[in-house]
Amino acid sequence: MMKDDKIESASPHVLAPLPYADDALAPVISANTINFHYGKHHKGYVDNLNKLVAGTKFADMSLEKIISETAGKADKTAIFNNAAQSWNHTFYWRSLTPKGGGEPPAVLEKKIKASFGTLDACKKELAAAAMAQFGSGWVWLVLDGDKLKVAKTGNADMPMTTGMKPLLTIDVWEHAYYLDYQNRRADYVNAVLDKLINWDFATENIG
Ligand code: MN
Repeated sequence: MMKDDKIESASPHVLAPLPYADDALAPVISANTINFHYGKHHKGYVDNLNKLVAGTKFADMSLEKIISETAGKADKTAIFNNAAQSWNHTFYWRSLTPKGGGEPPAVLEKKIKASFGTLDACKKELAAAAMAQFGSGWVWLVLDGDKLKVAKTGNADMPMTTGMKPLLTIDVWEHAYYLDYQNRRADYVNAVLDKLINWDFATENIG
């Protein structure tokens, strides 16, 4: 993760600032969508998490520690869901950038070619995974060992709990695109991949 990362703070967990203005991703993602998605949905997960961990052994843990301690535990589902959604959203905002898309930095491009053949094939696999995710969830470019892969997760789930390192993500919950695209998830995902995806952020996450 990046050095200035705010994802790892202990409670009270804070809603990490958006890395750009609320209208900076328009017209691909409108300020209206950002205001609901960041200001209501993302904030809601952070607020709920703080309420759920108050007075528990999780209160002094970093976000990532809470996630690893609650993943897969049936009696900790609410804490896991809100912690993972807090983390996933902060990671998603950083996976986008106003002048995104285009060509990845050389380090990442080399890995993309080794794993997918071409950048276009990588983008097509990300888009196909987004369409194949039934209901709410996330699509990820991950590092699994030394190889890049596309992964999809349902609801709040994330790749770290299965040992993969996330490089970038796209939110495919309906709240991410419905105000701008209604049911056209593919149009949202393809526009994000062409115009907003932050290959520099993905490259930094290779570490
Ligand atoms: Mn979301």
